[in-house]
Amino acid sequence: MLEDKNPQRTSLGELGEFGLIDHLTQNFELKQPSSLVGIGDDAAVMDFKDKKVIVSTDMLVEGVHFDLSYMPLKHLGYKSVMVNLSDICAMNALPTQVTVSIAVSNRFPLEALEEFYEGVALACKLYHVDLVGGDTTSSNKGMIISVTAIGAANADEIVYRKGSKPNDLLVVTGDLGGAYLGLQVLEREKEVFKVNPNSQPDLEAYSYLVERQLKPEARKDMVELLKKLEVKPTSMIDISDGLSSEILHLCKHGDVGCNLFEDKIPLDPSAIATCEEFKMDSTMVALGGGEDYELLFTIDQADFPKIKGNPNLTVIGHMTEKSEGAHLITRAETKIPITAQGWNSFNETK
Ligand code: ADP
Ligand code: MG
Repeated sequence: MLEDKNPQRTSLGELGEFGLIDHLTQNFELKQPSSLVGIGDDAAVMDFKDKKVIVSTDMLVEGVHFDLSYMPLKHLGYKSVMVNLSDICAMNALPTQVTVSIAVSNRFPLEALEEFYEGVALACKLYHVDLVGGDTTSSNKGMIISVTAIGAANADEIVYRKGSKPNDLLVVTGDLGGAYLGLQVLEREKEVFKVNPNSQPDLEAYSYLVERQLKPEARKDMVELLKKLEVKPTSMIDISDGLSSEILHLCKHGDVGCNLFEDKIPLDPSAIATCEEFKMDSTMVALGGGEDYELLFTIDQADFPKIKGNPNLTVIGHMTEKSEGAHLITRAETKIPITAQGWNSFNETK
């Protein structure tokens, strides 16, 4: 589906491991005051003064987490960094450094890795994060990426999955379901391309959804907004697996229940239109579809006036006593238990 626009193919063997690392990382500069030593020694050195340090790692495996037939490598580099920055943001901290480790087979030319690092560089630049290290090795088959993100926060600013209490409001940033629908669109185009390799995909109507899938953004802006609004969430998580499973995490860690209102779930108009076209239920897509990387958090009711009317923040429900369980209140006002996959429509309780 994606043509090879760059016909030049330099074999990785020509450079050797050290030459390759130098070549890929030569243009990265250290900008964060906390980055003392970056790439080039046995380890990086950082100084966070009196702040707490937050660390998170994620691994991405070709064929499991990404498909290079529709994922441009530049986007993959960007997304690999982003999913990790999102975890730092979900602790109400700000990301400061990343390390990027890659394993590739020799079917990848140097130009492919250059493209991947362009995406890494763009993510670092836009989010003011330094690349301070990584590892480079070979793989027998496919590509494996591991990114570690490092961030900092004052001890009293850190927000955990635990901490919410009954009557806290449940709030989500942005809109949901887009990344999952973008994936459905790309998968459909891939099937069309298999049958007719000359077909040109027309993704215009789905550009928002495809971008949500290929180029997600960590909501660092929302962490900054909450600080500005002087709202400290009582609990928080990022939405990587889908709204329902993240709600269940907050409930489990906080020892609380939850009422989620179907009519409050924020959806982009193109997500609604695409659900109609694909004959999918948009609530199911928001609950079960992952990779939106929005933030889901709870706040004390007293903080509601501070967030009220902000277009980036939507109150979608409230926490309850644990004994009440976690439920979706549908538009028809039926109460359905939330399950990790979405909801269990065979288990209605009134
Ligand atoms: P070591 O043998 O100690 O693992 P390496 O030769 O693997 O050292 O790495 C040398 C330096 O280059 C280190 O600072 C390491 O963090 C950095 N580095 C290696 N691979 C990458 C990569 N893919 N991206 C960024 N930095 C890397
Ligand atoms: Mg190494």
